[in-house]
Amino acid sequence: MKDNRIYLSLSQESGYEQEYIKRALKSNWITSGGPNVDEFEDELQNYFKHEKFVVASNSGTSVIHLALILLGVKAGDEVICQSMTFSASANPILYQNADPIFVDSEADTWNICPENLEIAIKDRIKKGKKPKAIIAVHLYGMPYKVDEIHAIADKYEIPIIEDSAEALGSSYKGKKCGGFGTFGILSFNGNKIITTSSGGALITNSKSIKGKAIFYATQSKDKAVHYQHSEIGYNYRMSNICAGIGLGQMKILEKNINLRQDNHLFYRGIFKDIKNVQLFETLSDDFFSNYWLNTILLETKKERESLRFAFDEANIESRPLWKPMHLQPVFEKYPYYGNKIAENLFEKGLCLPSGSNLTDKDKRRIKEVIINFFKRI
Ligand SMILES: *Cc1c(COP(=O)(O)O)cnc(C)c1O
Repeated sequence: MKDNRIYLSLSQESGYEQEYIKRALKSNWITSGGPNVDEFEDELQNYFKHEKFVVASNSGTSVIHLALILLGVKAGDEVICQSMTFSASANPILYQNADPIFVDSEADTWNICPENLEIAIKDRIKKGKKPKAIIAVHLYGMPYKVDEIHAIADKYEIPIIEDSAEALGSSYKGKKCGGFGTFGILSFNGNKIITTSSGGALITNSKSIKGKAIFYATQSKDKAVHYQHSEIGYNYRMSNICAGIGLGQMKILEKNINLRQDNHLFYRGIFKDIKNVQLFETLSDDFFSNYWLNTILLETKKERESLRFAFDEANIESRPLWKPMHLQPVFEKYPYYGNKIAENLFEKGLCLPSGSNLTDKDKRRIKEVIINFFKRI
């Protein structure tokens, strides 16, 4: 019999979700918004030590869009975005008919490169438009260089949207990712460290901005007995059923973070004896990664592909890293500032199975593929 397929990152229930879902159904809160949504937001605010206000939404993508709207990004504006990311970081710029300006990664954190960021800002200003926002990403859970990046943003007075979709549980100098930017973004998509099936959250410092975000997310209804609208609205609020799943998932967030640390140690154990493979790891104790996904760099694209095929033959999923946005057909006409760091990562990098539910047997199967592969070459 063929072994089950091992995936990169699968969600799993905590066992508490059904109770919250039942509560929503029984009380007829089967809609967007509601008591589970309020409670889920409270729990997230508690997670951020009540220093932040949180708005739960139907996806991470929708809150990136809301952040751009709240920052006043309009048609023809420019927004800087890390090129090496999932397309959801950049798509909302186009929803606003604004222009993305892509910036390369740096080799240390694989995230937005401080030097190229400043070069891009200066050049855009010289060409006549100061960027309205910077979207910086904590890729695969690895914090970007928060101090350097925010110092540059502050110098030019440009707000940061901190895409923390993959980094719930990560921190930088002891402070949680998602809480550094003018806006922070979380995702609770099915593949993330915890899920609401689909969902996201916007993190802000201000109660009134939270109110404004909820206003836009619930169709911009003015105060009136009839339906009155003086601004364009969106249907972006989290459903009360999904928030029930989120409340159940919050109970295993810490456990999932620990399990993903264990996965990382497992890979570290394997790769320490294999030459010419670089396991992606934190630079120093300033960085704490949730290791949402473990990733490696091989020597060539050919080798990367051979390893990927070897995994696939053993019914194990592995995948190339995110393809940089400036190389994507839909984005290739937009400006790009950088060298070839992101390209190089995309050519030679591979994501490895890293789910919180990897069993010892799964790990034995993964290890066997890796050991046999590097014996051969
Ligand atoms: C998952 C993800 C998002 C978007 O989240 P959704 O909830 O899927 O809309 C945004 N940015 C990054 C980097 C992601 O990985």
